[in-house]
Amino acid sequence: MDCIFCKIINGEIPSKKVYEDDTVCAFYDVEPQAPVHVLVVPKEHISSAAFITPENSAVVAHIFEVIAKLAKELGLEEGFRVVNNCGDIAGQTVKHLHFHLMGGRAFSWPAG
Ligand code: 5GP
Ligand code: ZN
Repeated sequence: MDCIFCKIINGEIPSKKVYEDDTVCAFYDVEPQAPVHVLVVPKEHISSAAFITPENSAVVAHIFEVIAKLAKELGLEEGFRVVNNCGDIAGQTVKHLHFHLMGGRAFSWPAG
Protein backbone atom coordinates (compact mmCIF):
# COMPACT_ATOMS: atom_id res chain seq x y z
CA MET A 1 0.00 0.00 0.00
CA ASP A 2 1.28 3.43 -0.92
CA CYS A 3 1.00 4.99 2.54
CA ILE A 4 3.81 7.13 3.98
CA PHE A 5 2.95 6.28 7.59
CA CYS A 6 2.73 2.51 6.91
CA LYS A 7 6.22 2.85 5.37
CA ILE A 8 7.48 4.77 8.44
CA ILE A 9 5.98 2.10 10.73
CA ASN A 10 7.69 -0.74 8.87
CA GLY A 11 10.99 1.17 8.59
CA GLU A 12 10.96 1.68 4.79
CA ILE A 13 11.03 5.47 5.37
CA PRO A 14 13.30 6.76 8.16
CA SER A 15 11.82 8.73 11.04
CA LYS A 16 12.75 9.88 14.52
CA LYS A 17 10.69 7.47 16.62
CA VAL A 18 9.93 8.35 20.24
CA TYR A 19 7.70 5.40 21.13
CA GLU A 20 6.68 2.03 19.73
CA ASP A 21 4.76 -1.01 20.97
CA ASP A 22 2.69 -3.79 19.34
CA THR A 23 -0.12 -1.52 18.16
CA VAL A 24 1.11 2.09 18.25
CA CYS A 25 4.02 4.11 16.90
CA ALA A 26 5.01 7.73 17.63
CA PHE A 27 7.56 9.80 15.72
CA TYR A 28 8.52 13.46 15.31
CA ASP A 29 6.70 15.43 12.60
CA VAL A 30 9.05 16.34 9.75
CA GLU A 31 7.57 19.89 9.63
CA PRO A 32 7.08 20.79 13.31
CA GLN A 33 4.43 23.40 14.12
CA ALA A 34 5.50 23.67 17.77
CA PRO A 35 8.72 23.09 19.78
CA VAL A 36 7.40 19.56 20.46
CA HIS A 37 5.41 18.01 17.60
CA VAL A 38 4.95 14.26 17.59
CA LEU A 39 2.58 12.13 15.50
CA VAL A 40 0.97 9.19 17.28
CA VAL A 41 -0.42 6.56 14.90
CA PRO A 42 -1.94 3.09 15.03
CA LYS A 43 0.17 0.42 13.32
CA GLU A 44 -3.00 -0.81 11.68
CA HIS A 45 -3.85 1.22 8.58
CA ILE A 46 -7.05 3.14 9.41
CA SER A 47 -7.64 5.84 6.78
CA SER A 48 -9.01 8.52 9.11
CA ALA A 49 -11.08 9.16 12.23
CA ALA A 50 -14.15 8.60 10.02
CA PHE A 51 -13.19 4.91 9.85
CA ILE A 52 -13.02 4.24 13.60
CA THR A 53 -15.45 1.42 14.44
CA PRO A 54 -16.31 -0.76 17.46
CA GLU A 55 -13.91 -3.35 16.00
CA ASN A 56 -10.83 -1.08 15.80
CA SER A 57 -11.46 1.64 18.41
CA ALA A 58 -9.44 0.04 21.24
CA VAL A 59 -6.24 1.33 19.66
CA VAL A 60 -7.56 4.89 19.91
CA ALA A 61 -7.91 4.59 23.69
CA HIS A 62 -4.40 3.19 23.79
CA ILE A 63 -3.12 6.09 21.68
CA PHE A 64 -4.42 8.51 24.31
CA GLU A 65 -2.60 6.57 27.06
CA VAL A 66 0.57 6.89 24.98
CA ILE A 67 -0.08 10.61 24.48
CA ALA A 68 -0.36 11.16 28.26
CA LYS A 69 2.87 9.23 28.85
CA LEU A 70 4.76 11.05 26.08
CA ALA A 71 3.51 14.45 27.23
CA LYS A 72 5.03 13.77 30.64
CA GLU A 73 8.29 12.45 29.20
CA LEU A 74 8.62 15.35 26.77
CA GLY A 75 8.12 17.97 29.49
CA LEU A 76 4.64 19.18 28.55
CA GLU A 77 3.33 19.38 32.15
CA GLU A 78 1.93 22.87 31.50
CA GLY A 79 -0.36 21.57 28.78
CA PHE A 80 -0.43 20.42 25.21
CA ARG A 81 -2.69 20.22 22.19
CA VAL A 82 -3.87 17.04 20.46
CA VAL A 83 -5.15 17.49 16.90
CA ASN A 84 -6.74 15.13 14.44
CA ASN A 85 -7.46 16.40 10.93
CA CYS A 86 -10.12 14.26 9.26
CA GLY A 87 -10.74 14.65 5.55
CA ASP A 88 -9.47 17.10 2.94
CA ILE A 89 -11.67 19.96 4.17
CA ALA A 90 -10.05 19.70 7.61
CA GLY A 91 -6.54 19.61 6.18
CA GLN A 92 -5.77 15.89 6.40
CA THR A 93 -2.84 15.31 4.06
CA VAL A 94 -1.79 11.79 5.08
CA LYS A 95 -4.61 9.25 4.87
CA HIS A 96 -3.49 7.12 7.80
CA LEU A 97 -5.12 7.98 11.15
CA HIS A 98 -2.80 10.10 13.28
CA PHE A 99 -2.95 12.41 16.25
CA HIS A 100 -0.67 15.44 16.44
CA LEU A 101 0.74 15.92 19.95
CA MET A 102 2.01 19.49 20.14
CA GLY A 103 3.44 21.49 23.00
CA GLY A 104 6.10 23.87 24.20
CA ARG A 105 4.18 27.01 23.22
CA ALA A 106 0.77 28.60 23.78
CA PHE A 107 -2.07 27.83 21.35
CA SER A 108 -5.03 29.99 20.42
CA TRP A 109 -8.66 28.88 20.17
CA PRO A 110 -10.68 28.40 18.05
CA ALA A 111 -8.12 26.84 15.70
CA GLY A 112 -8.29 28.32 12.19
P1 5GP B 1 -2.16 16.01 8.45
O1 5GP B 1 -1.95 17.22 7.60
O2 5GP B 1 -2.58 14.83 7.60
O3 5GP B 1 -3.02 16.20 9.65
O4 5GP B 1 -0.75 15.68 9.07
C1 5GP B 1 0.25 15.01 8.36
C2 5GP B 1 1.55 15.38 9.01
O5 5GP B 1 2.52 14.46 8.58
C3 5GP B 1 2.07 16.77 8.65
O6 5GP B 1 2.21 17.55 9.83
C4 5GP B 1 3.40 16.50 7.96
O7 5GP B 1 4.39 17.45 8.30
C5 5GP B 1 3.75 15.11 8.45
N1 5GP B 1 4.54 14.32 7.51
C6 5GP B 1 4.31 14.17 6.17
N2 5GP B 1 5.22 13.35 5.64
C7 5GP B 1 6.05 12.98 6.66
C8 5GP B 1 7.20 12.13 6.71
O8 5GP B 1 7.65 11.54 5.72
N3 5GP B 1 7.80 11.98 7.94
C9 5GP B 1 7.32 12.61 9.06
N4 5GP B 1 7.99 12.40 10.20
N5 5GP B 1 6.24 13.41 9.03
C10 5GP B 1 5.62 13.59 7.85
ZN1 ZN C 1 -1.02 3.51 6.37
